[in-house]
Amino acid sequence: MEKALEIFDRLVGDLLADEAEQPVAEYIPSAKLYDRLDLKLQEDGITAAELEASLKDLIFTTPRTATNAFFNQLFGGRQDKAILGDLLSVILNNSMYTYKAAGPQIGVEKAVLREICDRIGWDAASDGTLAPGGSMTNFMGMLMARDAYNETTRHVGVHHRMTVYTSAESHYSTPKNAAFAGIGRDNVRKIATDAKGRMDTAILRETIETDIANGLHPVLINCTAGTTVLGAFDDIRAASVVAKAFNIWLHVDGAYCGSVILSEKYKHLIDGVEEVDSFTLNAHKMLGTPLGCSLIVVKDKQHLYDSFSNDASYLYQTDHDDFNLGKMSLQCGRRNDALKLWVLWKSVGTKGLEAIVDKQFALADVARDYIRNHPDYTDYSVDDSVSICFNYKDVPAEKLCTLLYEKSELLVGYGSFGLDTFIRLVTINATNEADDILKFFDTLEAFVAKHADLFQAQQTELEITQNSS
Ligand SMILES: *Cc1c(COP(=O)(O)O)cnc(C)c1O
Repeated sequence: MEKALEIFDRLVGDLLADEAEQPVAEYIPSAKLYDRLDLKLQEDGITAAELEASLKDLIFTTPRTATNAFFNQLFGGRQDKAILGDLLSVILNNSMYTYKAAGPQIGVEKAVLREICDRIGWDAASDGTLAPGGSMTNFMGMLMARDAYNETTRHVGVHHRMTVYTSAESHYSTPKNAAFAGIGRDNVRKIATDAKGRMDTAILRETIETDIANGLHPVLINCTAGTTVLGAFDDIRAASVVAKAFNIWLHVDGAYCGSVILSEKYKHLIDGVEEVDSFTLNAHKMLGTPLGCSLIVVKDKQHLYDSFSNDASYLYQTDHDDFNLGKMSLQCGRRNDALKLWVLWKSVGTKGLEAIVDKQFALADVARDYIRNHPDYTDYSVDDSVSICFNYKDVPAEKLCTLLYEKSELLVGYGSFGLDTFIRLVTINATNEADDILKFFDTLEAFVAKHADLFQAQQTELEITQNSS
């Protein structure tokens, strides 16, 4: 083990030093991947030195998600204490299904979940669990909604034509999960949003009324706290009025921005969350822990048992169900994802987590101020969002993002809302500073100036298609 850890130490030391010099890894076109890197597995083993060289090549050419040039996804940066926690969970290698197998780590998970429930304002009937990502914690929410609608479903299967309601801007996991849950993708109603990307609750209500009149069975309303493109927050309180009127399960997908629950300044964005039935948040997004760390909490933990428990005498042999977390889990064997969040939280305190969240909004304000005060930019952003959406000059967003990537300058993505397509800069890396955000714009502008010819070509292509149509 010691030898392996020495290699780890050296590799990480070298990588961190290199990242400081070169925040974007070498771009390897996928077609060239197997030529550029020796990824093939072979019959015989190799020496430790050969292994180390091979690993170094691999990690040095892997996209760098923790640097000040990575704005591509809804995660980024490194919270060192969370990494410490995650490394320990690898070394300990517990499985979180029983107290017998995980001991005090069960207490760690329960402490984290309790703290989230308390902050929502829920009583001791509430609880939660973790799963590898938001897609899966959202799936758990949907399964509980389905089973709560009719308790026989989990025994005999889906025997109602069920419907699910979510905004047109919500994450793709909802239709995907509806297929898994036996509800069906076609029975997901994509409710239109207002101009700021928030679900229109009047349309929500009308759609539910129409479906009920047609003999359908609404089982779930999904609100989003931080939509994937704009970072918009649905009005949870308004949705909860509709959910209560029709007795429908209300879930909040806070995978992206649910962590605002930790901020005094921004928790108003999820006002009404105490009224919902279930709520997910990804600590690996706004709180900066390593992937994956997704939590789901429910107001009434009985639903977790109803949908997920199963007797298994080969597994549950000691202790009370309260400490045998497998009875509330989607999985059987389950890695300890709570420890990384617990170590971070223990280390920096709730105030420290709050600072992490608030910093992202502060960086977003820097970016929004910049584009709003700069005539070459078109702004598509909504306020109170850490997704800054814009276009620069007449440069097509898709082309600019792709070239920035292929030339190893910046990793940033694009998105669409309505008829507009734009660059989406995500200020989720709380270890960045205002200067890093300004540097992003500098780099982008210098890149466009330097490669004017490439963007010129694109315009000509566009003109050709426009002229020919
Ligand atoms: C990221 C995200 C998800 C999915 O979470 P994963 O952990 O990537 O599975 C779901 N919903 C929203 C709004 C997200 O931003």
